[in-house]
Amino acid sequence: MRITQQFSPGRPTLSFEFFPPKDEIGFWDLYRTVESLKPLHPTYVSVTYGSGGSDRRQTLDLVTRIKSDIGIESMAHLTCMGATRAELGTVVDDLKRHGIENVLALRGDRPADQVPATPEADEFRYASELVAFIRARSDMCIAAACYPEGHPEAGSLTADLEHLLRKVDAGVDFLITQLFFDNRHFYRFRERALRAGIKVPIVAGIMPILSVKQIRRFTEMCGASIPPDLLNRIESVEDDAEAVRHLGMYHATQQCLQLIEQEAAGIHFYTLNRSTATRAIYQHIKAMVRPGGPAASPPVAQASGDMVKRGDAVPSPERIS
Ligand SMILES: Cc1cc2nc3c(=O)[nH]c(=O)nc-3n(C[C@H](O)[C@H](O)[C@H](O)COP(=O)(O)OP(=O)(O)OC[C@H]3O[C@@H](n4cnc5c(N)ncnc54)[C@H](O)[C@@H]3O)c2cc1C
Repeated sequence: MRITQQFSPGRPTLSFEFFPPKDEIGFWDLYRTVESLKPLHPTYVSVTYGSGGSDRRQTLDLVTRIKSDIGIESMAHLTCMGATRAELGTVVDDLKRHGIENVLALRGDRPADQVPATPEADEFRYASELVAFIRARSDMCIAAACYPEGHPEAGSLTADLEHLLRKVDAGVDFLITQLFFDNRHFYRFRERALRAGIKVPIVAGIMPILSVKQIRRFTEMCGASIPPDLLNRIESVEDDAEAVRHLGMYHATQQCLQLIEQEAAGIHFYTLNRSTATRAIYQHIKAMVRPGGPAASPPVAQASGDMVKRGDAVPSPERIS
């Protein structure tokens, strides 16, 4: 099923992202994790792709098994950096042959130790070229990435948006954002995108903060900012792993509830292959999405450290107000 068929006003798509594990044991652990999500009826599960194509086989294996054996719709990520057109064509054909109908078309990042390709190389420079390539070759549903706070390499938000418009026009069906911790970035970006003529659904990428180390690494890598008050609260409990985790889950839950209320087209969870937290948040917010649309949202207040109580899966909205 093409994921585009699942977008409907007031009914956000809910999805999880995993990456292919390094070894066979990890593969089957992940398989069981995804299997355990089936009763939750996620809209789809996506599997990342190594920038140099390193885990191409695992991505294909996983998305195929998730769809055929487990019975959850799947989407393969595909990066073009470091790959020739012939190699990319083979991957797209393989995906189609295995019945995969959804692909997230990305540029990827060149590893620091790799020499940049020469302009003559048979390599796409931007994801928009990959999108056009897939579109010319197949009728797959194509998703692409977008950046509410701007892509780190973009000269300005305006330039980034112009490039995004070009990418969407090349054949993108929907967009998934880079993670963000302040919903205002998402709302502003969605408004600017709409004004620029981008009308495809924009799915919000959410990652709960589970450790201070993780959050520092990620924000450095992808340029997402953390609201200072959230950072202060998290750093104030830095030595207490459980408290950090609980605060992170609380914040992510609040983000999701607001996003649903503000009619985000969907929520995509970056799980980092640790699904317990995202699963708990998912179950909590799923209860808020009624068949006919989102239920009335609970009052949303600023999270504060003393609301974080031990032993709760996700702080309930009743305790938040
Ligand atoms: C939802 C999501 C999933 C991801 N999954 C993966 C994954 O599985 N594997 C992986 O390796 N990485 C993944 N990434 C990371 C992604 O590969 C990087 O963020 C990468 O740096 C940019 O990829 P892109 O597809 O957005 O590139 P592009 O859309 O090509 O944009 C990259 C930069 O080039 C600029 N640009 C675009 N077109 C032009 C143009 N014509 N002229 C000048 N500048 C231009 C853009 O403004 C931007 O600064 C993911 C990111 C997101 C948000």
